[in-house]
Amino acid sequence: MKSDLVVSGGLVVFPEHTIRADIGMSGDTIDGVFPPGEVTGKQVIDAEGCFVLPGLIDPHVHPVYLDDIASTSKSAAFGGITTMAHYAYARPGNKLVDKINEFKEEGLSGSCTDFALHGGLFETLKQAEEIPQAFEMGVTSFKVFMAYAKLGWMTDDYAMAKVMDTVGQLGGMVAVHAETGLAIDYIMDKLLKEKTDFAERFLETSPDIAEGEGIFRAVSIGRLFNCPVYIPHVSSKEGVQVVRFLKNLGVKVYAETCPQYLGLTWEELKKFGPLGKVGPSIKTEEDRQALWEAAAAGLFDAFGSDHAPKDKKKSDDFFEAAYGSPEIETMLPVIWHAGVNSGIITPNRIAGLLAENTAKILGLFPQKGRLQKGADADIVIFDPAEAWTVTAANQHTNAKYTLFEGKELLGRVKKVLAGGKLLVDGKNFLGEQGKGRFLATKAGWLE
Ligand SMILES: [Zn+2]
Repeated sequence: MKSDLVVSGGLVVFPEHTIRADIGMSGDTIDGVFPPGEVTGKQVIDAEGCFVLPGLIDPHVHPVYLDDIASTSKSAAFGGITTMAHYAYARPGNKLVDKINEFKEEGLSGSCTDFALHGGLFETLKQAEEIPQAFEMGVTSFKVFMAYAKLGWMTDDYAMAKVMDTVGQLGGMVAVHAETGLAIDYIMDKLLKEKTDFAERFLETSPDIAEGEGIFRAVSIGRLFNCPVYIPHVSSKEGVQVVRFLKNLGVKVYAETCPQYLGLTWEELKKFGPLGKVGPSIKTEEDRQALWEAAAAGLFDAFGSDHAPKDKKKSDDFFEAAYGSPEIETMLPVIWHAGVNSGIITPNRIAGLLAENTAKILGLFPQKGRLQKGADADIVIFDPAEAWTVTAANQHTNAKYTLFEGKELLGRVKKVLAGGKLLVDGKNFLGEQGKGRFLATKAGWLE
């Protein structure tokens, strides 16, 4: 076999096994995965000593704060992510289809990598009317919030039923920020009256019980309408237990967790003050352990970054500070370090939860998600032996901070290819804005 480009000598990772192989590609497509030496290329990239993974897919991205779609795609590329699904939030007063069009246009002109979109509903009863039109535009997954009523974000059970009914009939998927919102608002009001130190008592405002209840209620409403429910950012042991219970019932629920919940605890984050304020909160060591046990046991369906770098400083008022943190570039190395290096999960699990499973859930498979003949030539070459220290200065987000500041990690993204071309080569970024394509999804339940 003759290809334009060959990635040779690496350990190629699939969800079910790892093999020593060469990958040939021509144009933007993979020609195949071959036994070593069976494919020759006009150009060869040596991946000796490295793991070779499919271009990663991040299903949970918010490119509307300090990073726009263009800068998010650059930051993502350095983290090995070559496909993203952005949340197109239609805030109160917005039309969902207008927001989808805006995100699509911004992505087509600014994104260096391929991208898809989820819709986000805030005036849910009204915006739900636009869901059939969104499907025609290639958007088949939608998010609602059960929390943040005071910000005007909360969807009540009546409106959630309407979304689940509509999406259930059309065959898509609903993502739910699952926390008992109004009870949390009451807790916050009570703490405000007590003039308390919010940083000290942050976990009380995002309790594990609220997450468990939220997940159970969201998925139960989904069951009423045969609508698959995707739970982003599961953060607690209680959340894991409820997901396990529902999965054991055979219910249509997908669960995602994020590197910040797998890699950090609130105890160690407190020193960052409002920078560590994310929703749901990063909880205790016991919760972190439970998330890892669940990941090892195959309970999670995807990892996502929840990349949402907000404009805030350590010295800001904790209560007023916005929720969110930069996560997309550190996602793979943090999960690799905490999960693979410690023997909790295998690289194969990463190829599933950060690529193949995600592609299947979003309906982007087999174009994305697996290194095989005919797939897009999106490839990550990961050096498991490079030791490095995370610091804001070596990150590409516009945020001037990272929650992993000072963390020593083993394993780093070395090269990234997207569409058969080098996107990242060591410290060099070779991407071009406007190269990314919009990918229509076919999100839904995998039988
Ligand atoms: Zn999010």
